[in-house]
Amino acid sequence: MSADLVLAHGLVANADGRRVAHVVVDGGRIADVVDAGQPVPEAARVIDATGLVVMPGGVDGHCHIAQTTGPYTTLDDYATTTTAALHGGTTTVLDFGIPAHAGETPLAAALGKLDLAAAARCDVALHASVVEWDETVPGQLEELAARGIRSVKLYTTNRGTTMADGDTVLRTLREMARLDGLAYVHAEHDEIIVDCTQRHADAGEIGIAELPRTRPELAEEASVREVLALAEYTGAGVYFVHQSTPGAVDLVTAARLGGQAAFSETCPHYVALDSSVYAGPLPEFYACCPPMRDPETVAGLRERLLGGAVDTVASDHSCYSLDQKREHTDDIRQMPHGLPGVETRLPVTFTQMVGEGLDGLEDFVSVFAAAPARLNGLRGKGAVAPGYDADLVLVDPAAVRAVDGAALHMGTDFSPFEGLRLRGWPTAVVAGGRVVLDRDGFHDPGPAGRVLEQAPLSEALSWGPLGAPATESHAARSTR
Ligand SMILES: [Zn+2]
Repeated sequence: MSADLVLAHGLVANADGRRVAHVVVDGGRIADVVDAGQPVPEAARVIDATGLVVMPGGVDGHCHIAQTTGPYTTLDDYATTTTAALHGGTTTVLDFGIPAHAGETPLAAALGKLDLAAAARCDVALHASVVEWDETVPGQLEELAARGIRSVKLYTTNRGTTMADGDTVLRTLREMARLDGLAYVHAEHDEIIVDCTQRHADAGEIGIAELPRTRPELAEEASVREVLALAEYTGAGVYFVHQSTPGAVDLVTAARLGGQAAFSETCPHYVALDSSVYAGPLPEFYACCPPMRDPETVAGLRERLLGGAVDTVASDHSCYSLDQKREHTDDIRQMPHGLPGVETRLPVTFTQMVGEGLDGLEDFVSVFAAAPARLNGLRGKGAVAPGYDADLVLVDPAAVRAVDGAALHMGTDFSPFEGLRLRGWPTAVVAGGRVVLDRDGFHDPGPAGRVLEQAPLSEALSWGPLGAPATESHAARSTR
């Protein structure tokens, strides 16, 4: 019997090791991984992967798609975000259902996103979000968990839009512990940031160049400390998004050593860029929270990433156009904050983590695909092994290309990484067994993405470093 596809003679890289092998794809799944000493199995199509790295498709746990925050809405939808993700070797993205205004419930926000997800080109999953507590929230979270949405985003800052107050954070953490789910937390101490920003505004220093000074590292670390205490008190699993300082990562490491289910995410921009960008000619390219940190902090964060203390690297993809960014460069309080990045996560992170001799490759695969699949409870994702979904990326590790924002596919017109020379651009991408990118270009699979359900946190944490294979019931339970 002939398989659908074979990737022959590639260096197959997983979070736990590498070997030269043939990857056999059939029916949308990985049917086998055959030692390269064996003949190439028969298939309808064979792609020669000699000299290429074959790794699991990326899982980006942190993307904001068509998100409204205050007066701004991000510019891309599910079709553009997932198309850009596939171009960048990411085959699963997680978005957030965040209430856009007072009165929108967590359930309504999440269900609205499920409707939009029908246009997805790759598999997707969703985090819910709680901004305001009321007595209906536990029932809503229960209903969401029953639909396989078992993670919830909380913001400790952004007063007036997405911030949850301390009581709401505590009660939501308690519910997530009860429902065996995970809390995703944007941790920045709101009172410090509000005060620090006001003092800068009073001094007339409130333009984009001042951004890093208005959001001190202390504000991030103070909030991480506080949320870790609430998580310990309630017994909830907690995942800190976009950690930007070594001190914040170290707090999570210490909590984990103390027995807490605590996890650390950073983003490509916090390790590849530093605060000197705000003194450059285009500071508006870098309006995001937290801001890029000073070079010493960045070096410390990079050390934590390379040393294995950071669990995942996610994009925090948020597409605003330069026009939107430039409306209020004289007042950061009114600017839309967030950077496009779902398409560049692979090459930026690969260049940071993988040496010319391919040292660090397994650790890269872990933060790029395996760990985000596992921590988000996604079966069938994050490994090149029999029984996993056939989501695969081929990378020529020797090829170097500079970032050209105009050639990218995200719903915006710039890249914060413009001009950076990077290794790790995908040469071919397979999603759900379909070749969606190869030397001939992009082959749009249409709205083929499924909405994935998340396993309970305790179950996901019992999986090994490669996560868990797909199951038939898992496929049947997918919404589409
Ligand atoms: Zn975010």
